[in-house]
Amino acid sequence: MHLGQYPVEHLARQTTLRPVQIGGATGHAPPTTGLAGIAREYTKAFFDADTIPVASEKVSLPAVRDLTNEIKATCHFLDTTAVGVCAVTDGPDDCARAVVILVEPGRAPEPTNAASAWLDGKIIDFANLRCTEIAVVLAGYIRQLGHQAHLFYDHSSTDRLVDLAVAAGIGRQKGSQLEVPFIGPNYALAAVLTSLPLAVDKPLAPNGSLISTSLRLRHFFGFGGVQSTLHKHTLHRRATHLGNYPMERIRRRSKPTTLILEDEVPRVPKRAGFFARAGHGDLGAKTQRERDRFATKHPLAFAMSPLMHVMVPIQDGPVGSVKAGTTKNPVTNTKAVRSLAYMLGADMVGVGEAVSYAWYSHDADGIPLPVRHKHAIVMMIDQGYDTSEGSSGDDWISGSQSMRAYLRGAGIAGVLAAQLRSLGYSARAHTNRQSDVLHLPLILHAGLGELSRIGELVLNPFLGPRSKSVVVTTDMPLERDQPIDFGLQDFCAKCTKCARECPCNAISYKNKVMFNGYEMWKPDVERCTRYRVTNPKGSSCGRCMKVCPFANEGLISHRLFLWLAVHVPMTRRLIIKLDDVLQNGARNPVKRWWRDLTRTPAGSVEPATGTNERDLKDGVQSKVAAAQDIAYYPADAMPPADATEAWPLDRAKALQMQREMETPVQALARRKRID
Ligand code: SF4
Ligand code: SF4
Repeated sequence: MHLGQYPVEHLARQTTLRPVQIGGATGHAPPTTGLAGIAREYTKAFFDADTIPVASEKVSLPAVRDLTNEIKATCHFLDTTAVGVCAVTDGPDDCARAVVILVEPGRAPEPTNAASAWLDGKIIDFANLRCTEIAVVLAGYIRQLGHQAHLFYDHSSTDRLVDLAVAAGIGRQKGSQLEVPFIGPNYALAAVLTSLPLAVDKPLAPNGSLISTSLRLRHFFGFGGVQSTLHKHTLHRRATHLGNYPMERIRRRSKPTTLILEDEVPRVPKRAGFFARAGHGDLGAKTQRERDRFATKHPLAFAMSPLMHVMVPIQDGPVGSVKAGTTKNPVTNTKAVRSLAYMLGADMVGVGEAVSYAWYSHDADGIPLPVRHKHAIVMMIDQGYDTSEGSSGDDWISGSQSMRAYLRGAGIAGVLAAQLRSLGYSARAHTNRQSDVLHLPLILHAGLGELSRIGELVLNPFLGPRSKSVVVTTDMPLERDQPIDFGLQDFCAKCTKCARECPCNAISYKNKVMFNGYEMWKPDVERCTRYRVTNPKGSSCGRCMKVCPFANEGLISHRLFLWLAVHVPMTRRLIIKLDDVLQNGARNPVKRWWRDLTRTPAGSVEPATGTNERDLKDGVQSKVAAAQDIAYYPADAMPPADATEAWPLDRAKALQMQREMETPVQALARRKRID
């Protein structure tokens, strides 16, 4: 993981190290208008979020090389394009090392795409934004380890950062610019100065070719686990609004593949969500105590919290007084919105109806919420295949995986919503911190996935369940996508791997039922919430996401197997069997880059409880399946919208409910009788 996506370890290097004198203060880019102005507003908000203090206790550190690898892997986990370390002579607070971060901008929309005019050539502002985000998170993480860290950035001149990047072996000087192997001429730089005793990288060879012919060839085909040049070339030929995955080849339907009785789906208050219930004490004192810290127990996840916090007030805002004359065509608008979202870092983008039943009925204070917009732009953010590979799914990195995806999503949705408002259309970002909508029905209607056995999770054919969603609702004229059908209902009916591997038996082995108007494999949400919130040997849980055959880039990520799973139903049982035989879903130790840490009031320590070291279970399925009980808490068992006190769960009654649940066939028959 610390080696990143390019084969930089094979580049020609000098043998001498070069410490850098960094000099005085750093500079911000001045405020400006348009989309670049929004990028700068977010960049400033992220700088303001650099608030994590140095923990009073220092964490015990591993050997210098292991520590350096961990810090570099952390940067790559946060989506750095390249990272290096150099020595500095005049850093503050005993900071003798600079971790230098380089970020390549996303793909620029084609000149004919309306988003190109919105960007007005200022794409680098968004690479600066990402650089800032990574630097702030890294600095906060290091301080939570009890060591000093200071941001070093300069958006007015790149000179001093170029100097640092040269010394850190990221690139070599070419005039006032940096020549960076494998990467084009566009990049943004930032650095974190730290007192951590990190190993210093050697600068690149000053003359001659940095990349040998054999290295160029290996890189072209992606040997050695790197991103291949071939893949990059393929993407360059693909229109930017289509993104990186061929979703346009997936079959479309006029309705989702699972029955939704729309007039029977209740609008629910925010108070009814199980995490809100945990916070109010409905699940008992222990779950209430842990509710606010379970996803940020690890110091890396905690370092992301302030950035998410500062974005909440700018998720919505005033709308431009005039609708831009160039935005009357829904097809043109949709292309531009998609290209912009992909440039900003979304992994999947779809547009659907913002159905009324997706809107919460009441906010967290019990105040009624209106249905505000007619369209939902839904985006999925990959939680990271590499890290998933190394993790058991419910160990100490799990919370950070979720938080990284939520953080990335909140930034993308916030910028996109602000841009739509500046064009004269009401638009609001709905993030994990603040959302007026339930995402699940919107993902279905935007054609990004089908409901899976995991239950309240919409699974995408290319990302599997390994994603987090974020939504922008708006009234801008847009062209909607249709729901997709890639055979998941039949696949999940045959596969029960997530149910087998769930640590607390929360995923149903049973058949689908009707729940609040939806046909679904209804999970035991109470069990899942309790486990995620109080997991003693990890932070949160995403084990179902990690083990699913669709999340794996081993067996069925190979397009042949995915194609077979989608188009040839009779191969599905074999594929499910093969996925287990090949031990897909077991941990890959090569990708195990983080340290198990948990926060205490004094600092970060190794957890005394240990960590969940799980690989695949075998042979327990039938016993557990036969004995499984699922508790159902339908809308009429929810607490009132304004309940401030605990509203305890009645689990006995919820278990009773399983005998009364209607099947989809029974629901349709009932509807027919009524009609
Ligand atoms: Fe089970 Fe964890 Fe998935 Fe919840 S998140 S259903 S506890 S595997
Ligand atoms: Fe469906 Fe199997 Fe994935 Fe569960 S593990 S969601 S049953 S494909």
